[in-house]
Amino acid sequence: MPEPSDKVKNLPTYALAKLFAAKEKKLRDGVDVIDLGVGNPDLRPPEKVIRALHQALDDVSKENHRYPAFDGLPEFREAIAEWYSKRFGVKLDPGKEILPLVGSKEGLAKFMLAHLNPGDGILITSPCYPAYLGAATVAQASTYQVPLLEKYDFIPQLDQIPEDVLKRAKLILVNFPNNPTGAVASDSFYEHLREFALKNAIFIMSDIAYCDVCLDPRFRSRSFLEFDRNKENSIEFHSFSKSFSMQGWRLGFACGNSTAVANLLKIKSNMDFGVFMAIQRAGIAALEEAEAFSQQMSEVYRKRRDALVPELIKAGWDVRPPVATLYVWLRIPRSYSSSDEFANDLVEKTGVLVAPGAGFGKHGEGYVRISLIASEERLVEAVKRMKEAGFKY
Ligand SMILES: *Cc1c(COP(=O)(O)O)cnc(C)c1O
Repeated sequence: MPEPSDKVKNLPTYALAKLFAAKEKKLRDGVDVIDLGVGNPDLRPPEKVIRALHQALDDVSKENHRYPAFDGLPEFREAIAEWYSKRFGVKLDPGKEILPLVGSKEGLAKFMLAHLNPGDGILITSPCYPAYLGAATVAQASTYQVPLLEKYDFIPQLDQIPEDVLKRAKLILVNFPNNPTGAVASDSFYEHLREFALKNAIFIMSDIAYCDVCLDPRFRSRSFLEFDRNKENSIEFHSFSKSFSMQGWRLGFACGNSTAVANLLKIKSNMDFGVFMAIQRAGIAALEEAEAFSQQMSEVYRKRRDALVPELIKAGWDVRPPVATLYVWLRIPRSYSSSDEFANDLVEKTGVLVAPGAGFGKHGEGYVRISLIASEERLVEAVKRMKEAGFKY
């Protein structure tokens, strides 16, 4: 057996892997598990997108079944540019400012590999999507977790980052609307981020996987590129997983600074082969009616939030309803010493599975994440079980 590389040795077990194991055990014991642990939407992708995939599969030219181009289908890149212009008022050059991805997770990781040498610094807001931390470990980067604290509405306090950390930092990764806290960025935060990054020569990675999972109809999430219109110092990552429930399809894209996009393409073309062309064609169908599709999905999550949160409040929990994302970030009772201990006790006594905050980085401890991935009835049932088992804040 070969020794694993230092990269692998330094990796923690993927945080959510433990959850899958807990769920399997409960199911084997015959428990009716309510799984609110993973961020894995339970909705079906839009019918029209599924039909577009069928059509592309049946296409007699067979061209769709061949190796795709590394930089994606030109028609797909054009559809992305059109959508960005309609959705955010941002003009993108489909020739050099857009790159389709096999899901945004791979793009985020490869972007780090493309820009970080061992020891280079990356600032990652924390708590965060766990894959960020794993990817930075693989890149052997020096990671600084910028805290997202409740007292600051989970917005990073950039001016509190130590000077020596700033000197070493090459990249900053932000994610709004935020997984797992549900926080959203204000215009003034994005403006400040832009200035801060330019001043410190740090390049911005913006992950907007949840920009169209808006639970409050008055809230409209923005693109960071609206604040960096010349794409001087940023790249944005987008995903079809959450807004269209297409997570198994593996489709996303990066867009922004053309040099950064070219660097990402260079590493990608040595490691993979772009997205199955039939899926890129279905992606065009998704973008053509993106607004209607994402509104329908957001409506489902909004109803679930409005079923769950008032029940939690009635049961004595101190919880804020999220305006975006499919997550409720819940502070654990003081009687528990860790989020792991609480989540384990909860699944043990109620069969309700939530994600312990500690799995989302250094600043996730003290919370658990509840995903709105079950029906309103099941969510209400989950709170009922918690109440009956004597859980309260
Ligand atoms: C789910 C998620 C992703 C992953 O998206 P894929 O396109 O499915 O790889 C990226 N970022 C965040 C914050 C997520 O929650």
